[in-house]
Amino acid sequence: MRVIRLTNAARAAGLMFAGAGILAMPGGGYLQPARAESQSWAVTMQGMQAAQAAPAPQHQAVPASLPSKDAAVPVPASPQTPGPAAAAKPAAPAIKKANARELFGAAKEPANLAARSIGFYAKGCLAGGKPLPVNGPAWQVMRLSRNRNWGHPSLIRYIERFAQDAKEKDGWPGLLVGDLSMPRGGPMPTDHASHQVGLDVDIWYKPTPDRELSAAERESTKMESFLRDPGHVNPEVWKPEYETLLRRAVSYPEVARVFVNPAIKKWLCDNSKGDRSYLGKVTAIMGHDAHFHVRLSCPAGNPGCENQVFKADEGCGKGLDQWIAALMKPAPAVPATKLGAIRAKIAAWKGSLGGHRPKPPFPMGQLPAECETVLKAQPSPSTDATAAR
Ligand SMILES: [Zn+2]
Repeated sequence: MRVIRLTNAARAAGLMFAGAGILAMPGGGYLQPARAESQSWAVTMQGMQAAQAAPAPQHQAVPASLPSKDAAVPVPASPQTPGPAAAAKPAAPAIKKANARELFGAAKEPANLAARSIGFYAKGCLAGGKPLPVNGPAWQVMRLSRNRNWGHPSLIRYIERFAQDAKEKDGWPGLLVGDLSMPRGGPMPTDHASHQVGLDVDIWYKPTPDRELSAAERESTKMESFLRDPGHVNPEVWKPEYETLLRRAVSYPEVARVFVNPAIKKWLCDNSKGDRSYLGKVTAIMGHDAHFHVRLSCPAGNPGCENQVFKADEGCGKGLDQWIAALMKPAPAVPATKLGAIRAKIAAWKGSLGGHRPKPPFPMGQLPAECETVLKAQPSPSTDATAAR
């Protein structure tokens, strides 16, 4: 057993994490797969940019009151004796309005409950989360300061098996593993819209080096895009071995989907020989040009876990070509109007924040009611998230 202690510098560096993709959202935020899946393939460039910029609808409601920023536990409903006016119109319990991003983000340990994924990938939480060991025989976890190496036990088993199979059967050096979920799942304060129920994991295309990375290196190693431009992979860095890796990633029955950038999907469509059935589980989505995202189906015996519905086709048709064509259209001209100039200034200012703009609040009331129980549960005893295997 080995424990990596994180320095403040490493924690600070963790906050600088940003996806390097040309079309990835600033800060490595990724378009929520559920939304992308339901979009028409033939969307316009502007439409896609809007989709990237827009928060998921369930994130838009702004609660009337929020607990203090430091609130780690749910705030009970108004402690004061309600007056006649309040009695006439009872307020919603404060917990329903509290920002789930802050509450789940503050939960540093898993809930001591039976393991269960509750709700939907982009609207749920995780009971009984288990940590992926930060070092394994065929993987290393990145960005340890984020404390997002938690998942449903089925996800932990999947990553361990996939990593070892890729190494033993395909000669892959080992996986660099990005975010899974927070200890109790839930909506994250930064980045992903999904990753809420412990069934999603981001995996880098870059393989592990032939040595153990330091905690500082795990924070600072850049996630570099594998694209040459928005519609094409960069042939200097993209290798056919990545196809082998993706084939391996989707080869397990528990995998619902693997999400990749449209340009990567296009390369796979154009170059995959032999059995192409795996392509049906590889879904194009914006971002995801330096890593791929694996989503597992709801494990058996998880009542309240909601699967995502997908189209059953190879996904290599006209729709993908139209999407790529839209991505290759030149960016709109520099705004000439005064309003356009103001918008451009605001965009530049937001960019200067390093891509970690706070996300809109996510009221607890939008999560399944059981997520309140998950939040309030005692922490699991002696779970060491930083233990190495
Ligand atoms: Zn992801």
